Amino acid sequence: MTAPYSEAHALALDAADPLRGFRDRFLIPRHGDGDQLYFCGNSLGLQPKATRAALLEELDAWAEHAVEAHFRGRHPWMPYHGFVREHLAELVGAQPGEVVAMNSLTVNLHLMMVSFYRPTRERPAILIEAGAFPSDRHAVESQIRFHGFDPATDLIELEGDEPDGTLSMAAIERVLAEHGHRIALVLWPGVQYRTGQAFDLREVVRLGHARGCIVGFDLAHGVGNLPLALHDSGADFAVWCSYKYLNAGPGAVAGCFVHARHADSRRPRFAGWWGHDQATRFRMGPEFVPTPGADGWQLSNPPILALAPLRVSLEIFHDAGMARLREKSEQLTGYLEMLIRERLDRVLHIVTPSEPERRGCQLSLRVAGGRERGRALFEYLMANGIVGDWREPDVIRISPTPLYNRHIDVLRFVRAVESWRDAR
Ligand SMILES: *Cc1c(COP(=O)(O)O)cnc(C)c1O
Repeated sequence: MTAPYSEAHALALDAADPLRGFRDRFLIPRHGDGDQLYFCGNSLGLQPKATRAALLEELDAWAEHAVEAHFRGRHPWMPYHGFVREHLAELVGAQPGEVVAMNSLTVNLHLMMVSFYRPTRERPAILIEAGAFPSDRHAVESQIRFHGFDPATDLIELEGDEPDGTLSMAAIERVLAEHGHRIALVLWPGVQYRTGQAFDLREVVRLGHARGCIVGFDLAHGVGNLPLALHDSGADFAVWCSYKYLNAGPGAVAGCFVHARHADSRRPRFAGWWGHDQATRFRMGPEFVPTPGADGWQLSNPPILALAPLRVSLEIFHDAGMARLREKSEQLTGYLEMLIRERLDRVLHIVTPSEPERRGCQLSLRVAGGRERGRALFEYLMANGIVGDWREPDVIRISPTPLYNRHIDVLRFVRAVESWRDAR
């Protein structure tokens, strides 16, 4: 038995982890007498213990103050979305005025495209990665049709050029060299949901801008997973959801970034009263004057009961610090990778790039032997309280998250796969 493979080793790593206390801030689902091994933060993050009280606080404010709760109580509703602003900006590396919590991811993506996808006959196209998340693909395709263009020619989907379907920077550079002149918008993932590949945002922006394209990001799998520097990346816009690594609950209020250079944008937008200049919003005049910055894209007054969990979640990220989380994340995922390579070589093939700078916490694992064998393993894991998720046709995604996962969880996962293999 090699040292890294012993429980003692994993437990020692956990004991030395400066972030180990954060696990206690979460409700870990149970399995039998113990905790689940929950590796599914890429899909739905766990519930922080403080969330319930934050929700009850708003229910109480509503009960006690009713309409006055907009101005009274610990967290008045009128400025409520502002309570998450600083932490959100910190998390994604933006100026406070560049971010806003609103709507859901796909809605925000459409709102951003209304302003930032302005196709012309010469430049009608959108570039995305092949195999993009269906919602993103539906969104861009419908936008192309909405403007009277044809996705058959104007939606460019870049196929992976590396053996496991991941993408080299050279491939992005090539497609932009060839088609950049007719690409209006590059919409790129921060972390690709299927392969777990992370991209150098600044480089994608540089390549896109060099060809005159607008560059926006979908950070559904990037936010709360990787340290981000959105402002410095130069991205025109970015959108993300908050129920994955951000642990803000099912369907949580999503996020949106608009670069400061567009703060006073005169681009067309779909407007609503909450995007109107705050100073004059309640004069209720007919003319729309946008609030400068990302706030100007808001439509409606925010759902307070859905924002409360986000406020709680962002406080946890602030306390932990994204740089420290990333350091632990690299360790945890590196440990998982090492154990898989050493012990499960014939069972699991790692699709996700092995360079730490080209991935977040997730490893996408292709199960040798095809779909049926993969499903059998996945179901065995679930039956044993080990929760990852399944992506057709043969991939299990396992995402050890630094806020609540431990080295011992990773080790137990690897041992469970070994038991399954050995029993067959
Ligand atoms: C999770 C995810 C979505 C989900 O969209 P919602 O609008 O939040 O339902 C969309 N795109 C990507 C890339 C995702 O990972």
